[in-house]
Amino acid sequence: MKKVAVLGSTGSIGTQTLDVISREPESYDVVGLAAGTNVDLLLKQTAVFRPKLVSVATRELADQIRDRLPSGTRVCFGEEGLVEVAAHAGADYVVCALVGSLGLSSALAAIDAGATIGLANKETLVTAGHLVMARAAAKGAAIVPIDSEHSALFQCLNGEPRSAVKRLILTASGGSFRDKTRDELKDVTVEDALKHPNWSMGAKVTIDSATMANKGLEVMEAHWLFDVPYDRIDVMIHPESIVHSMVEFRDTSVIAQLGNPDMRVPIQYALTYPERRPSAALPLDLLAKGTLNFRPMDFGRYPCLHLAYEAGRVGGTAPTVFNAANEAAVARFLRREISFLSIEEIIEEVLNRHTPHSSPDLGTILETDLWARQQAELLRP
Ligand code: MG
Repeated sequence: MKKVAVLGSTGSIGTQTLDVISREPESYDVVGLAAGTNVDLLLKQTAVFRPKLVSVATRELADQIRDRLPSGTRVCFGEEGLVEVAAHAGADYVVCALVGSLGLSSALAAIDAGATIGLANKETLVTAGHLVMARAAAKGAAIVPIDSEHSALFQCLNGEPRSAVKRLILTASGGSFRDKTRDELKDVTVEDALKHPNWSMGAKVTIDSATMANKGLEVMEAHWLFDVPYDRIDVMIHPESIVHSMVEFRDTSVIAQLGNPDMRVPIQYALTYPERRPSAALPLDLLAKGTLNFRPMDFGRYPCLHLAYEAGRVGGTAPTVFNAANEAAVARFLRREISFLSIEEIIEEVLNRHTPHSSPDLGTILETDLWARQQAELLRP
């Protein structure tokens, strides 16, 4: 029985993780759940899974739910609460599904506690890939990707030596605005942006896939996870989201992983790896699909992806700035303060203002994150 903690249990990945777990209850013991402010859902999850430890965003929320928890469930809160659930709930498997840079310290705490990490939080590797991979190697902690593209790459690589890999090819659906011109993007609304054609995801990642910032974060994440340089990581548009990513090997063989777009498949594979179990997802009917399409990436159409490659190549604190500026800009777009195209302008401007540090420690990363956020909040587009 796997003892599992889920960080970000009320989000899109968190709820789907618990859905996967609830289909095989004899295989899992949920020992910890960490949520933010959605205490109603957390209370429902707690009643079903009876974890030892839960965490919420603030002391007020913790006080509010304490008396409504089952006996045997303790509540903690804040950043320390996340670390507590990651490291001290007795989990041997921690699903890191927090959104944004909030996930870093708890992921490191889970690695230090010797747990296997199911990693859905991109920012952990984007901002601190050098620290996280070194720490995981030192502790012998496995990091298994949950993101669909990285799960696909992980499955295609399947233990092949790095020397056999020519390039990684990440696929991108193109997001909710893939058929719009740059000109048509000027007046798009929050509601338009939130309509993803293929995937059902949280608001932040849905906006990120419309700007292609999401693919930029995924390129950086792939660089760290699979130790492949940026000039050997490519992105292709694939509107159907059936091929989740591919690896080209040096003998010209290309191995791809295919499936219907359903996050429960990569989530389950991360949980059961190296085993494969039956899934609730619909089987892929390629005959019904008939045709799969691929288009080259247009960096002029998606400048955020170009900025991400640049930040990745510069390295050090530059990816932290890309990520934090993007996070703040997307939040402003969701609050309807700025236009959709201002997101990329803000990221570019904050990157321009930044002088990167190489090999930053955790303190420098967090300071840089805060600085970039403040800049992105104050900029007038
Ligand atoms: Mg993805």
